[in-house]
Amino acid sequence: MKKNFLLTPGPTPVPAEVLLAMATPSIHHRTPQFKAIFKEMNENLKYLFQTQNDVFTFACSGTGAMEAAVVNLLSAGDKAICVQGGKFGERWGEICRAYNIDFVPIDVEWGIAVEPEEIAQVLKKHKDAKVVFTTQCETSTGVLNDIKAIAEITKGTDTVLVVDAISSLGGVNLETDSWGVDVVVTGSQKGLMIPPGLAFCSVSKKAQGLVEKAKSPRYYFDFRLSKKALDKSDTAFTPAITLCIGLNEALKMIKRETLEVIFERNRKLARAVRAAMRAMGLKIFAKDPADVVTAVCSPKEVDSDKLVKIMRDEYGVSIAGGQAQLKGKIFRIAQLGYVNEFDLVMGISCLETVLSKMGYKFELGKGIGAFEAELLK
Ligand SMILES: *Cc1c(COP(=O)(O)O)cnc(C)c1O
Repeated sequence: MKKNFLLTPGPTPVPAEVLLAMATPSIHHRTPQFKAIFKEMNENLKYLFQTQNDVFTFACSGTGAMEAAVVNLLSAGDKAICVQGGKFGERWGEICRAYNIDFVPIDVEWGIAVEPEEIAQVLKKHKDAKVVFTTQCETSTGVLNDIKAIAEITKGTDTVLVVDAISSLGGVNLETDSWGVDVVVTGSQKGLMIPPGLAFCSVSKKAQGLVEKAKSPRYYFDFRLSKKALDKSDTAFTPAITLCIGLNEALKMIKRETLEVIFERNRKLARAVRAAMRAMGLKIFAKDPADVVTAVCSPKEVDSDKLVKIMRDEYGVSIAGGQAQLKGKIFRIAQLGYVNEFDLVMGISCLETVLSKMGYKFELGKGIGAFEAELLK
């Protein structure tokens, strides 16, 4: 008998409370019933984003909200700065290219965080850059960037800071307002404990100034339409009603538990996963690791794609492999959303089993032992 478990950095497991809420018959969206749900959802989104700014909701994956940020802030020929230290940082550059935005890349070695000072230097040279695009947790490498320090640089300037927090919001701290982050982008299937299909952008007053002037083509993603509707607790177009109902439940659970408690849990779990990997003789890929996903270097004799495939197909345990240049070389385990210590015990046990079968020599049980010991500290 095979059971399926998700330990991937998106999608993540969905709690039964959320699944049940979504299993109710459809309701219409232009009704007081949906309006009440939508209003509560939007209030709780502000708690999640730690902001008083508007948070716009779109029916798309996280990348849609990234594209929304680009088209609402910039026009063809405008200058932007893109921090590229992994596959998702590079996506900012790819979207800018699609809209003929003139972008200055900051190429960071995969596995390390961007040096905030480097952003300050590039910004000094390119004072006309309207936007700096960054990533909080670079999910492809498991790196956490120091958004607080980066926001210190853009805060007093006319440049708007945009943060891709798709894998990190609700998992690690991001104080949108008190740090001075202008636009935060996230998606539904990572830290928010619901399936894929919703994405969000929070937009500061400073960023709103660019929204009025931007000339990039846009229609569904036009923040001006989103704002007009949101001001009336309404949506410009048909919302993904079922996902909004699920999100409302999930956000209530997050608020009940509190962000502080969730961040602390992820910190502990990530520390214990790292300890487990080291005890098995494995190396952590990221020099500046995030607490939501752990990227681990695969041993020489093990192709990580094969490892992922065997764990999933033979044992039902899904972790992620490496992307682009890291394909076959790393594997990634998420400590994100509805995942607790015993989900990870199961994941590490499966990892030990399959690594051993694939010929990697280590003492069975070492990883689990170190994981438990770290959590008992
Ligand atoms: C998952 C992820 C994305 C892409 O989100 P999709 O929902 O697949 O479009 C972008 N950035 C980061 C940091 C991610 O983790």
